[in-house]
Amino acid sequence: MTSPRAGSRGTGRIDLHTHSNASDGTGSPAEVVAAAAAAGLDVVALTDHDTTAGWDEAAEAARRHGVVLVPGVEISCRADGITVHLLAYLPDPAHPGLLAEFDRIRGDRQRRARLMVERISADYELTWDDVAAQVAGGATVGRPHLADALVARGHAVDRDEAFRGILASGSPYYVGHYSADARDVVRLVRDAGGVPVMAHPFASRRGRVIADDCVAALARAGLAGLEADHRDHLPHQRDHARALAADLGLVVTGSSDYHGGGKPNAIGENLTAPDVLASIERAATGTGVIRP
Ligand code: AMP
Ligand code: ZN
Ligand code: FE
Ligand code: FE
Repeated sequence: MTSPRAGSRGTGRIDLHTHSNASDGTGSPAEVVAAAAAAGLDVVALTDHDTTAGWDEAAEAARRHGVVLVPGVEISCRADGITVHLLAYLPDPAHPGLLAEFDRIRGDRQRRARLMVERISADYELTWDDVAAQVAGGATVGRPHLADALVARGHAVDRDEAFRGILASGSPYYVGHYSADARDVVRLVRDAGGVPVMAHPFASRRGRVIADDCVAALARAGLAGLEADHRDHLPHQRDHARALAADLGLVVTGSSDYHGGGKPNAIGENLTAPDVLASIERAATGTGVIRP
């Protein structure tokens, strides 16, 4: 560390899951790193949805703030018809297969967001320009941006209210987007030299969750870990993730899933053990951790 903070740095405080406005977080990549530094974190991973566009800015900020940056990405995929999020740490950002997959997901997210706006606009005043005004240039478009546009129009008080109503997955306005099979994405991430960890695997409050045998199949395909400590997991879900990880020989992570002001998640509210990060680094061949 080049700029240790009183009492808080150097103790291995590691948060491996955050979002910037390169996807649906509210802060820039530099602001995410600044927030990590202010919270006394030693290490932060930037894991925007389906893009690595925030990496360069985050790396520059990490050097400035004396924080270690783990470049990552959270990839939208599916398993047995269930939406799953795969965190990929340290993949080669120029891997052609990975780039093609990101392009495909982001392109279809754009189509889907426009279709949702079309449906919503039948009942609420909302235009595509309202949504576009909420999306930083080139960012991965998601329902949180639709939520921000609905809030700006006065149709919801915050993202959470929009998600509980107009944007809910059971709502008549909801449209799904393309996502690849998680097993193929696990193999793709490994092929790109990255280390795949399943985000919030048993967060039932988000919808249907993956079965244990499906996690086992992903482990056989190359899955490296499960995110156990996440605010969307109830205590028994954290325990289950830990037990299953032990059974399958996977590592266990803990993270905030920080989205800036877009969610109550506080950066550093859940942490990952230093030996787990060390094993992720050893397994990765795609790109390196940025050290100040
Ligand atoms: P999408 O991937 O476009 O379907 O949108 C899902 C994303 O919205 C998740 O990855 C979260 O980042 C975010 N999200 C889900 N529920 C909420 C909520 N209640 N409030 C704010 N953001 C949410
Ligand atoms: Zn998100
Ligand atoms: Fe997620
Ligand atoms: Fe996330």
